[in-house]
Amino acid sequence: WKNAPPSLRLLAQMVRAYGPRLFTIYEDERVSFEANYRATAHIARQLTEMGVQKGDRVALAMRNLPEWPAIFFAGVSIGAIMVPLNAWWTGGELEYALKDSAAKVLIVDGERHERLKQCYDQLPDLAQVIVSRAKGALELPALALESLIGTPNEWGALDDVGFPEAEVAPDDDATIFYTSGTTGNPKGALGTHRNFVTNIMSSGYVAARTMLRRGEVPPAVPDPKVMLLVIPLFHVTACSAAMMGAVAAGSTLIFMRKWDPELAMGIIEREKVNATGGVPTIAWQLLEHPARANYDLSSLENISYGGAPSAPELVKRIYEEFGALPGNGWGMTETTATVTTHSGEDYLSRPTSAGPPVATADLQIRSVEGDRELAVGEVGELWARGPMIVKGYWNKPEATAATFVDGWVRTGDLARLDEDGFLYIVDRAKDIVIRGGENIYSSEVEDVLYAHPAVTDCALVGMPHKILGEEPVAVVHLAPGTSASEAELQDWVRARLAAFKVPVKVRFAKDVLPRNAQGKILKTELRGLFAGEAAA
Ligand code: ATP
Ligand code: MG
Repeated sequence: WKNAPPSLRLLAQMVRAYGPRLFTIYEDERVSFEANYRATAHIARQLTEMGVQKGDRVALAMRNLPEWPAIFFAGVSIGAIMVPLNAWWTGGELEYALKDSAAKVLIVDGERHERLKQCYDQLPDLAQVIVSRAKGALELPALALESLIGTPNEWGALDDVGFPEAEVAPDDDATIFYTSGTTGNPKGALGTHRNFVTNIMSSGYVAARTMLRRGEVPPAVPDPKVMLLVIPLFHVTACSAAMMGAVAAGSTLIFMRKWDPELAMGIIEREKVNATGGVPTIAWQLLEHPARANYDLSSLENISYGGAPSAPELVKRIYEEFGALPGNGWGMTETTATVTTHSGEDYLSRPTSAGPPVATADLQIRSVEGDRELAVGEVGELWARGPMIVKGYWNKPEATAATFVDGWVRTGDLARLDEDGFLYIVDRAKDIVIRGGENIYSSEVEDVLYAHPAVTDCALVGMPHKILGEEPVAVVHLAPGTSASEAELQDWVRARLAAFKVPVKVRFAKDVLPRNAQGKILKTELRGLFAGEAAA
């Protein structure tokens, strides 16, 4: 065990504690901690036999399936660098990341195999493709995952599960997670084994902090929970916070084939789900669903999200209408997920905050030029430091040098800290609208629009203006059966914010706004809606 990576050591310890408990549920497939562990060792042996060595990249392109965690842990156990790819990507986008990471092995599900199979021979580094749940017969040289995973009788008894010999140090490279590509091309964040386990320290402690505030005594070991995981495992939050969190706490993860609020409510009732969330949209869709009253959702204890700004009203409604604790947190791919966490009563009393930093992280607000630290309350660029910050970007030395400075990551987010150290994300530096030299933080105007009873989705973006540089314009989506005019929404903002922040145009979108796999609104697409409309 001396040379096993920390995530695998934890997995092994927790199998001893939680063996027969369910680790994952996907439709009618139920996998225990023990079965997952035995399958992991089996896959690790197969990968080794195939010639996968320390430092080789193994790409994983699949939706949330029960085999995903076993493949992931198998790869890291032998020191391979795991590269989870965004399952929403088109063939071309997947091909870009396979080329960028120079993956030697690709493990892919049937759907993505169909998208990708034409391009395999254009990838010179790709030596082996393994397909899970293939649709129809496979053409060589692709292998079926089922033949690689084998059957439970081939996995060996729990007592003599053997992993291949490998020397893996905690600070060796472990993962390449791609950023969401909200502001440009996705960048591969190269993280270590140590980075990957940092989140397990924050999850239990958040719950404990909430209980202490309520005058309850937290248990020495957190209770296992049932979690409906609706965000994809290829995103670092789901993988390093939710999946590792489940390993640490002995919790069960439920996967869904596709997000659907009504199906989700059925699962919550049937499996007595304690926690869900991921991104704010999920919480909204559950809250506003017309069939909500038909389901017993009383098992829900916690609905947490992060990754994107959320409306303050959501916090109160989760608390009041679900009787669950709302949670928020800030992090980025470059920080292996969680850096701040916010929960329960703390969150209710500071609904626009993303919470205080976890105990292992430091935050600073610096001038946009980066040359000095700003005072409490001032808005500047957020810098973060701690054991969760990755080494840099894969293959991008210039971007790495610009973003990772003296152990800190420059986040590109504009933020402030209050007297108690709570973080408030104000905007992305790239989303700020500068109108004739006046800064308009898009999230401030969006919060006001969200508070309008008819608005369920909105975004503020900048439209080019010859003299002013930019003007604010809004795109909104109204709740079904409600109405509001452009002038009414402009008046609504005017009554609450300075005149220069009022959107000069409001466009109404038929559907909710376009988002990427992480639930983030694609503002670049929305800016396109106003192209050519710029006023002189
Ligand atoms: P890219 O870097 O490729 O443009 P991205 O920044 O969206 O994409 P991620 O690493 O998934 O990729 O997201 C991190 C970003 O998400 C943060 O920099 C911040 O802008 C936003 N974010 C994360 N958590 C929160 C939060 N709680 N509130 C507001 N914004 C958040
Ligand atoms: Mg980013």
